[in-house]
Amino acid sequence: MTSATMLLMLFYLAVPAFANITVAAPQTAFQGQSFYLSLFADKPVKEANATFQERKAPFFPVGDKYKAILGTMPECKPGEYTIAVKIIKEDGSVDWQSQKIKILAKDYGKVSFYVKPAKKKAILSRPTLVQDEWAPIEKTLVVKRPERFWEGKFIKPVPGITTMDFGVREYINDKKRGYHRGHDFRAAMGTPVMAPNDGEIVYASQTQAFGGTVVIDHGQGIHTLYFHLSEFLKPVGTMLKKGDFFARTGNSGISSGPHLHWGMSVQNVRVDPMQWTREQM
Ligand SMILES: [Zn+2]
Repeated sequence: MTSATMLLMLFYLAVPAFANITVAAPQTAFQGQSFYLSLFADKPVKEANATFQERKAPFFPVGDKYKAILGTMPECKPGEYTIAVKIIKEDGSVDWQSQKIKILAKDYGKVSFYVKPAKKKAILSRPTLVQDEWAPIEKTLVVKRPERFWEGKFIKPVPGITTMDFGVREYINDKKRGYHRGHDFRAAMGTPVMAPNDGEIVYASQTQAFGGTVVIDHGQGIHTLYFHLSEFLKPVGTMLKKGDFFARTGNSGISSGPHLHWGMSVQNVRVDPMQWTREQM
């Protein structure tokens, strides 16, 4: 037997060992949107994660398969990307698989708005205010537990009309400030805010930049965020059911009028929350 034949035989023998695990991914996803990978295995796997743009997303058991939900940023460069999937089997052996996905451009537009001098002064007096106040909020955007609390589609947290979509390029007082990483609803002062799905309140605090802020942990690294609130109705640690009121809207922090800023975080990537009201993840 030649060495080439032997190599060929080894290759074919190796195939069945990989055939019991398959990973499925969508072919395309838009900038700023969420998507998921499905992993099917004939034997339980110990651990699996997907790496997309240097960020890891763990797989969790959902029904008869495993799912990893990933998010893309609105500034993610359109083009083809490789997602690496690492699978640790029950016996400790490791499988690697890869999936290709094409990120498509989405035009979210741009907007200019102005904040009042008093608020601007307070913000400008501390140039690192936003980063400083964001740090403790970001600490909550982690996988706290492997349980999935949410079920089905998310509901809108307030009934108001949209005042600004996710992904819009923001100019505040004529200065470029980045992308709008949430969805804004018009809401009169004191409008009660509903939990869009089941989850635990993991953060509730007043900040100068984001105003009254709440973070809900929906499990498996999925979180929703609420800014500019005027009142907290439930303390940190409260388990909420879809539709429960937990806060009231306001105009606190860097805000040009009463509204609710609703954010969504997928493994610490801010994505479009409205997609989750249309699609089941
Ligand atoms: Zn906003």
